[in-house]
Amino acid sequence: MYLGMIVEQGDAVTLFSMPQHPYSSGLLSSVLLPHPDLVMESSVSLKGEIPSPIDLPRGCFLASRCPFVIDRCRSEMPPAEMVGPSHTVHCFRHDEVAATTPASKTFEAFVAESERILRRPARQPIRFTPQP
Ligand code: SF4
Repeated sequence: MYLGMIVEQGDAVTLFSMPQHPYSSGLLSSVLLPHPDLVMESSVSLKGEIPSPIDLPRGCFLASRCPFVIDRCRSEMPPAEMVGPSHTVHCFRHDEVAATTPASKTFEAFVAESERILRRPARQPIRFTPQP
């Protein structure tokens, strides 16, 4: 969701491993990974001004920050498009976004590493001895 609008919808595995909206890819690019060997393949960088939510621009709300922006984005709101079973996206260039942010295996590794960490026995609490 960006500025109150759902820009991409789908199940968690699909969205995390095959995002087709630049905002989804941008969010995933900024996720901290739980192991130094894990590398996020997606690297969409969103820069620029965030429009005011009380004075939204015409067209796509992400146009001022999107690295895929074209002229059409500044005048037309992209409609919802089905790109897979129960996967919808609002982006004129979702094919190119998907092509430049290929299906990531990082999500599977992320889940496996997170589960491994969560299965660890709880650490002993650190006890502090007050100094006189
Ligand atoms: S419609 Fe245009 S500005 Fe909006 S996310 Fe897609 S490419 Fe970017």
